[in-house]
Amino acid sequence: MQWQTHEITNQVPELQNYNLFETDVCLRDGVNQYAAAWHKEALHQFGDRLGTPDVIALGELANKHLPELNTHDRHGKRIDHVTFHASWHQLLSMLREQDLHAMPWSRPRTGAQVARAAGYYMQAQIEAGSLCPTTMTFAAIPVLQKEPALFAQLQSQLFSSEHDPRDLPIAQKKSIMIGMGMTEKQGGSDVRTNTTIARAINKEGRGQPYLLTGHKWFFSAPMCDAHLVLAKTQAGLSCFFVPRWKPDGSKNPVQVQRLKSKLGNQSNSSSEVEFLDAYGVMVGEEGRGIPTIIEMANLTRLDCVIGSAALMRQALVQAIHHARHRQAFGRLLSDQTLMRNVLADLALESEAATSLMLKLASVAEAGDDPLSQTWKRVMTPAARFWICKRAIEFTGECMEVWGGNGYVETGPMARLYREAPVNSIWEGSGNVMCLDVLRAIERDPKGAQLLLQEFRTSDAPAIQAMVDNLEQNLQLPAEAREFNARRIAQQLVLVAQSYLLEKNAAPEIAAAFTHSRLDPDCGRIYGSFGHTMDSAFCQHILQRALPE
Ligand SMILES: Cc1cc2nc3c(=O)[nH]c(=O)nc-3n(C[C@H](O)[C@H](O)[C@H](O)COP(=O)(O)OP(=O)(O)OC[C@H]3O[C@@H](n4cnc5c(N)ncnc54)[C@H](O)[C@@H]3O)c2cc1C
Repeated sequence: MQWQTHEITNQVPELQNYNLFETDVCLRDGVNQYAAAWHKEALHQFGDRLGTPDVIALGELANKHLPELNTHDRHGKRIDHVTFHASWHQLLSMLREQDLHAMPWSRPRTGAQVARAAGYYMQAQIEAGSLCPTTMTFAAIPVLQKEPALFAQLQSQLFSSEHDPRDLPIAQKKSIMIGMGMTEKQGGSDVRTNTTIARAINKEGRGQPYLLTGHKWFFSAPMCDAHLVLAKTQAGLSCFFVPRWKPDGSKNPVQVQRLKSKLGNQSNSSSEVEFLDAYGVMVGEEGRGIPTIIEMANLTRLDCVIGSAALMRQALVQAIHHARHRQAFGRLLSDQTLMRNVLADLALESEAATSLMLKLASVAEAGDDPLSQTWKRVMTPAARFWICKRAIEFTGECMEVWGGNGYVETGPMARLYREAPVNSIWEGSGNVMCLDVLRAIERDPKGAQLLLQEFRTSDAPAIQAMVDNLEQNLQLPAEAREFNARRIAQQLVLVAQSYLLEKNAAPEIAAAFTHSRLDPDCGRIYGSFGHTMDSAFCQHILQRALPE
């Protein structure tokens, strides 16, 4: 006998079988504009695949069945092995097949950074934890390329498009992943406090083998085949390539103490490790470990921007989709005037984030042109600060569009929300990014002038007014400038986003963004557009954001 207490109605169908590329006008336009149109067909196919129920399920599975650490095998031998659900490896295989770990280096051509950013941005919408080892590998390659002897041994495995999960010495593997180890218990932002030491086995210096003793308090993706690790020699902090296996085929004594129990980013394992005379090869100049590894960090910052823009985009499309199917008080949520205000405001924020991340990807390969260099050096940390922070409240607001269903773990919104803060903390938290923006400006004031001049080519009085304000803040005495560093980074990003939307998006979209972001009455909460924008215009913004 069947009991039926009620009929199920007004629940929203899954958002699936949609093409993540074709439905994203800002992404498509950016790929054309920044010389990556050659990759459009591949992105179209990838976008289609990512939207299938099977791939969406991989993201859910990898975050439900979490990584497990086994420090010893059943015979008591130390193995420091992390096991993952099959979905994790399938996600890494997809990232790898698309060359998202290496494309600009393995297949260099104009537009490769943007093509890669577009693919990364799409997969990031489906699952974010697997991005961590992919990003670290991507960022390590240019550092390793500067060590020709070492790179020659690694190149084919680094560039390979095939994920190889086996825990074997590098020479026996089809492909490898690289991580980074900087943060210790006593300090992460200030790595000068690192206490891990390295002693030369024979000769000292670049390319020579050392033994490392000490620890790292955060060491993500310990199953990577090697990590770039900071440790002290007599000359100061230096950078070392520390593989999981030693050249003699024995396990390198990098002991995983435990896995971090994290708020989000749960599919990815982050660990605490100790080095017990661990083998490592010096990379870069002795005593120049920070500049060596900072080169890597510049690229991880770009990926944090892409990853956060992706979280925003996915939260947005989920919110719009929900509002188009859920009714309250006799009407669809998407037809309710106030809800349209909220969703349209979110859509503008998401488009501005995507637009800026595409620009930053384009300047990542822009050579020595001083203006592009300034975009890279000043705007990457500024965007990393602002967009990663915006993603936190953004995903929370989108979750609320789903009502109670947003807050429970059976849907995607809770995962997006829990994922959002990590990009703002990891490798350079908010304040550190803002101080970096100031440092970049102080180091190259002419470049900063060029950037402001570029913004001034806009006719919009609002943009001109923002640049005036910025110039005043930049002229403050050093202490006051530091005090205002967050304000300066925020102003830089809002100006840049307004400017980019004016150049690249429909004029009415650019005007709506610029006016609302500069309107002091608009406030800090999404959905505060004033009466100069109406419900019909908001509907137009939503159609652009996710065509019905
Ligand atoms: C999920 C996850 C994974 C991670 N994976 C790795 C990894 O793989 N490898 C690795 O090396 N690290 C990793 N980290 C560590 C991360 O990079 C550090 O947590 C981060 O750099 C901050 O360092 P900290 O935790 O020591 O905080 P602190 O350095 O103590 O900073 C605390 C706060 O003070 C602020 N602050 C610092 N200096 C100043 C200043 N001069 N003025 C104003 N404010 C300041 C910071 O912005 C921050 O908000 C990971 C962290 C997380 C959460």
